[in-house]
Amino acid sequence: MSDSDIQTVSTEDAAQLLAAAESAANQAYAPYSKFRVGAAVLTEKGVFTGANIENASSNLGICAERVALSHARMHQVTKIIGIAVNCIDAPEVTDLQSGITMPCGGCRQWFVELAPEAWIITNGSQEVFRTQDLLPKPFVLKNSNDTP
Ligand SMILES: [Zn+2]
Repeated sequence: MSDSDIQTVSTEDAAQLLAAAESAANQAYAPYSKFRVGAAVLTEKGVFTGANIENASSNLGICAERVALSHARMHQVTKIIGIAVNCIDAPEVTDLQSGITMPCGGCRQWFVELAPEAWIITNGSQEVFRTQDLLPKPFVLKNSNDTP
C-alpha cells in the first residue's frame, strides 16, 4: 500500500463506517456459527449496510460484505469508495487469529467486480487494504472498464 492510499481514508470515515458495520452486525442471522458480521460500504450515494445471513444448508449462507454490496447495487450505486467489516463476535485478535476478521475469498472476488477501487478496513486490523491487495490475481471475464 502506498502513502497515497492511506490518505484516501480519513480517520473519521473509517470510524463512522466501522460503527455502521457494527450496527449492521446486530441484524445478522447467525444461529449456527454465532459469528455475527456486519459490513458497510461508503458510496457516492451514502452508506449501505449488510449482515451475514446463514442457512441450515450451510453453503447457502451469504456474507455481510456481499449483502452490503447487493444493497448498494440495488440503489444504483456505481462507485464503492470504502468497505468496513466488523466481526462483533470475533475474539480479541492475536497473532494466531489475525485472519479471523478478514473477508473470505468469495467476497474478495465480489470486491474485484463491484468495488475494484475500494479501500477495505476491518475491526481486527489497523491496516487499510485495497481490493488488489486482497486478491491480486482475480478471475475476470471482461474488462473492468466495461459497464454492465
Ligand atoms: Zn465472505
